[in-house]
Amino acid sequence: MKTIASHTLGCKLNFAESSSIVRSFTLAGWEHVEFDQRADLYVINTCTVTAIAEKKCRTAIRQAVSKNPDAIVAVIGCFAQNTADEIAKIEGVDIILGNDKKHDLLHYVNDYLEKKQALSSTQISTPKSFCLAYSHADRTRTFFKIQDGCDYFCTYCAIPFARGRSRSATVEETVMMAHEIASSGAKEVVLTGVNTGTFGQQNGETFLQLLLKLDDIDGIERYRISSIEPNLLTEEIIRFVAHSKKFLPHFHIPLQAGSDNVLKLMHRRYDTAFYSHLLETIKGLMPDACIAADIMAGFNGETDEEFEKVKTFVNSLPISYLHVFTFSERPNTAALKMDGRIDIHHRREHSRQLQVISDEKKRLFYMSQKGKTRPVLWESDVKAGYMYGFTDNYIRVRRPYDPSLVNTITEFTISNG
Ligand code: SF4
Repeated sequence: MKTIASHTLGCKLNFAESSSIVRSFTLAGWEHVEFDQRADLYVINTCTVTAIAEKKCRTAIRQAVSKNPDAIVAVIGCFAQNTADEIAKIEGVDIILGNDKKHDLLHYVNDYLEKKQALSSTQISTPKSFCLAYSHADRTRTFFKIQDGCDYFCTYCAIPFARGRSRSATVEETVMMAHEIASSGAKEVVLTGVNTGTFGQQNGETFLQLLLKLDDIDGIERYRISSIEPNLLTEEIIRFVAHSKKFLPHFHIPLQAGSDNVLKLMHRRYDTAFYSHLLETIKGLMPDACIAADIMAGFNGETDEEFEKVKTFVNSLPISYLHVFTFSERPNTAALKMDGRIDIHHRREHSRQLQVISDEKKRLFYMSQKGKTRPVLWESDVKAGYMYGFTDNYIRVRRPYDPSLVNTITEFTISNG
């Protein structure tokens, strides 16, 4: 039996897609093994969001090539989409597929095995088709890809070039796939996409219509919306989540910059006043909600003076924690032609300071939840006699292992806030 190993970098969308791709191989008789084992085929699903992500892709490619020099090495996804020529120069790489063709990897591998051509495809075109996909993080939780691509072209972001324009399946098709997930036994579904809130736009449907239908599916007990642009998180959606028993009080709302000048330079579609009001609305309806925010440090124009505004603004927000990124120039983006570059030392220093703020926000959020009783979905992993799970508002907790609790939801009182 032939063996396949995969390594995924980047976002939850990539993880959902990798799972679906690997499933297509196991259904065709391949055995799935760990990436550090010897395999006949290594698949590296890549990311281009930062320069660091690209460095990790190169490292993973080298690891695969050194693990088994006779293996087929397939590099797929966003980095492959944007930099196919560069990857083709790396010794040992056999197949390169961008986001347009990666879902047909099985076909390309079979083709390669038959013809033994050095590279099956470096002909990369803008992705246009859409494939629903889902992964199992463990058997309790699934990342469900409901949307792909983005039309926003924020000035720092290469993702619209790597993933193409926004697109999705219809509400009906998406709900059908959700029934399949329900029958797999997973209790929690995380809705993922590149710009999730634009779901349905090309079909004349809305994200809220999808949420309403998903809420009715038997078997799935919890949904999280993985990330949604502030301008697309409408008051209607917030009210719906507040009253739904299945959609959890957990939001991931990219902020990116805490200064109106920098937000304008980024071509973001909101200002700080809008963002602040949005969070107040959420907290007004769901006081215990967990709110995470992406923020980028050191974008063009983020002088020390602007950065003081950023810190003041972020400190004023009822967020639970930040995902801090350091800005790095991406190919093809408008930011490359802009003035006001910040040197790398200042970028890193801004990043460090934002991380300190994030740590303190997280500590305060956990403290605020101490003594509260929240529902927890228990996972199957056991470490030192303990099992783990997340509360509805995304606090990771543990209790002594009890196998009868795996994939069940029980009430749990948070003790170490
Ligand atoms: S919304 Fe902006 S940051 Fe997000 S994927 Fe689209 S262009 Fe990139």
